[in-house]
Amino acid sequence: MSTEDLIKQAATDLVESNYSIALTGAGISTESNVPDFRGTKGIWTTDKEAEAKAYERYGLFLRDPKAYWEEMLGSRGTYGGFYEEIRKAEPNPGHYALAELEKMGILKCVITQNIDGLHRKAGSERVLEYHGSIDKLRCLSCGSRLAVEEVSLEELPPRCKCGAALKYDVVHFKESIPLDVMEGSEKEALKCDLVLICGTSAVVYPFANLPKMARYHSGKSGLTNVKIIEVNAEPTPLTHEGISDYLIQGKTGEVLPKIAEEGRRISHKAQD
Ligand code: NAD
Repeated sequence: MSTEDLIKQAATDLVESNYSIALTGAGISTESNVPDFRGTKGIWTTDKEAEAKAYERYGLFLRDPKAYWEEMLGSRGTYGGFYEEIRKAEPNPGHYALAELEKMGILKCVITQNIDGLHRKAGSERVLEYHGSIDKLRCLSCGSRLAVEEVSLEELPPRCKCGAALKYDVVHFKESIPLDVMEGSEKEALKCDLVLICGTSAVVYPFANLPKMARYHSGKSGLTNVKIIEVNAEPTPLTHEGISDYLIQGKTGEVLPKIAEEGRRISHKAQD
């Protein structure tokens, strides 16, 4: 099938679904000039040292929260610079298209691996931030989350009301996914009848399990008839393993607005 035919198929599948969800990754934000990790110009693809350092970040927080904060704020490394770059980013047509599909009542929620807050900025309302957000800090002891602006960073590490050191809400390598987000996301994966997967290499776990949970609901044998659609620049393990029904190969900022437009057209036609 041609890309245009696949776009029409995706719009039809979305309009016919009862409960669609979107799973998104760093690829949906590259057109907002936020680099991904594993794409051709990704941060890890071009800087192996940065990747190695990222693997040590959670351990550093547990051992020495002050040193962690010094690194995150840029006084020891360059990571603070990455967060500042992300804060300047604006949503692109891919983010807006998902927000529009939600307003049309088609998409029920977005589960994102992204930490950049661009789905909310674009107007999506039900967003589960699986890997946290750069706009919040989180207490590993009592689970509280606080907006960055609410917390003074004059004395490091910043502390929660319960006394424990706060870290960024962002989930670092080797850190567990917060239970509330993990459970909420799994519930959505088991409830939906369509998954639209946008801009993820689908190699980061446990997030990459969500499409598999939708495909093989645990406790049942065989495949579910949940529709799983990928929009990505390149094929992924989900494509190769047949987890997704089809891949629309292209840029999310170009493909998703076309899907939303076609979805609107089909919905209006059905109402006429
Ligand atoms: P990834 O970097 O592993 O994979 C991105 C995928 O998107 C690749 O397959 C790439 O080919 C594809 N892609 C890139 N630009 C695209 C475009 N315009 N249209 C369609 N596809 C495109 O990303 P991931 O799977 O999300 O995993 C990386 C982890 O890094 C996530 O956990 C995330 O938290 C974090 N991260 C987040 C951001 C962000 O918040 N924007 C940025 C970098 C990394």
